[in-house]
Amino acid sequence: MSATARELRDSTEGAHSQLLVRQLNEQIRSLAGPDALDIVCECVNGSCFERLIVSLDEYEAVRRFPTRFVVKEGHVAGDIEREVVRLDGAVVVEKSGPDAEQAILFDPRRYRAGADADRALRREMEA
Ligand SMILES: [Zn+2]
Repeated sequence: MSATARELRDSTEGAHSQLLVRQLNEQIRSLAGPDALDIVCECVNGSCFERLIVSLDEYEAVRRFPTRFVVKEGHVAGDIEREVVRLDGAVVVEKSGPDAEQAILFDPRRYRAGADADRALRREMEA
């Protein structure tokens, strides 16, 4: 049982918010210890701030794919994302189409890797 994106979203900014929540979770991840992570639901509803507990391994497995998000059970927008795996109280979903392109474009890990490469290049040019 899953809802449609329209049912979950309360504005067209839904996809955008989902990307912001992912960035927020990356901040939480960077401050977290080796135990379970207390993150925010990454569903398409821009005003959803429900908390999810996932293990570090589960979280890292999701972030290996820029098109994957982790949402609370019942927050899957079945018409625009497909379920990949069910966790305890949460579901990993995968985007396709334009949402997936946005998700890849704004992948915080790709950005970080790019920024590191940028800094390295600048250091080389200054040397
Ligand atoms: Zn949610």
